[in-house]
Amino acid sequence: MSDKTSSSPLDKEQMQGLRGIREFLKVRTSYDVLPLSFRLVVLDNDLLIKKSLNILIQNGIVSAPLWDSRNSTFAGLLTSTDYINVIQYYCQFPEDLDQVDKFRLSSLREIERAIGVLPLETVSVHPMRPLYEACRRMLKTRARRIPLVDIDDETGRETVVSVITQYRILKFIAVNNEQHTMLLKKPVRELGLGTYRNLAVATMNNSVLDVIHLMVKHNISAVPIVDRDGKLLNVFEAVDVIPCIKGGAYDELSATVGDALSRRADDFAGIYTCGEDDRLDSIFDTVRKSRVHRLVVVDDDSRLKGIISLSDILKYVLLYGEEEDAIRGN
Ligand code: AMP
Repeated sequence: MSDKTSSSPLDKEQMQGLRGIREFLKVRTSYDVLPLSFRLVVLDNDLLIKKSLNILIQNGIVSAPLWDSRNSTFAGLLTSTDYINVIQYYCQFPEDLDQVDKFRLSSLREIERAIGVLPLETVSVHPMRPLYEACRRMLKTRARRIPLVDIDDETGRETVVSVITQYRILKFIAVNNEQHTMLLKKPVRELGLGTYRNLAVATMNNSVLDVIHLMVKHNISAVPIVDRDGKLLNVFEAVDVIPCIKGGAYDELSATVGDALSRRADDFAGIYTCGEDDRLDSIFDTVRKSRVHRLVVVDDDSRLKGIISLSDILKYVLLYGEEEDAIRGN
């Protein structure tokens, strides 16, 4: 597409759709994505990690901003990656189980250091900045969610307004900018959208711990579960780790993936699949109607072909052909 003369009408329409969505993201703010009313669960940094698990489960959430009440500051975002780090700590120092039970949320940085992972950069964005900025920051840091942080007028202190996810942003585009998403008619095969090589997969008989190690090794948030013919059966997600270690049951991580998935909450959103001939406009339709966190690409026999993460979609929508556009002054 870099060569203007060889662009087909389909290419041009696709590019027009992408530009329309980028413009839309530049005139809307992160605040616009928030519903009229919402609740926000913020956890005190002094809370025991063990207790934080129960709170997330009871509230049906998978992440929460942390608050340092001593210094009255925002202290980062708790996500399933933090629990995976605790599990890695437990694996590396099994004799320290007593210690693991006593860890507080404020110990998370210490845990990262002990297991040798780089601390995630805590990026945030002001709610009134363009949504485009939140998207660019998320792509840069590979964050799947970003806190909206404002400064309180009276106290001058930071306030966490809410957290927005890649899913909420794509849903916002799907619901409010259909005039442009409907122009994205090129099939995912042609766009090379997603990952199709060296896929990390597991079977129902693998242990939860095996799958966690795969997620850490590949730096991914989900592992497709296949049968011996490579047919897709399910997807184990990083957030599935949370109920597995409820109550500090780290020794239960040797249970099979099959067992763990059978304990999923009743309101589990389900897994979504697509074919390589599906187009991005129909993927946006699916996002508009359902709570989609990734799409697994399968063939007509349900055999696993690839995986399309929301980060792949966001990256394509924001960055594809961007340099050429900047050069042409679009
Ligand atoms: P995610 O962690 O889901 O945001 O995905 C990060 C990147 O890894 C994206 O480019 C995905 O296409 C890719 N990816 C996601 N899951 C897998 C997997 N199971 N095997 C290989 N690559 C994956």
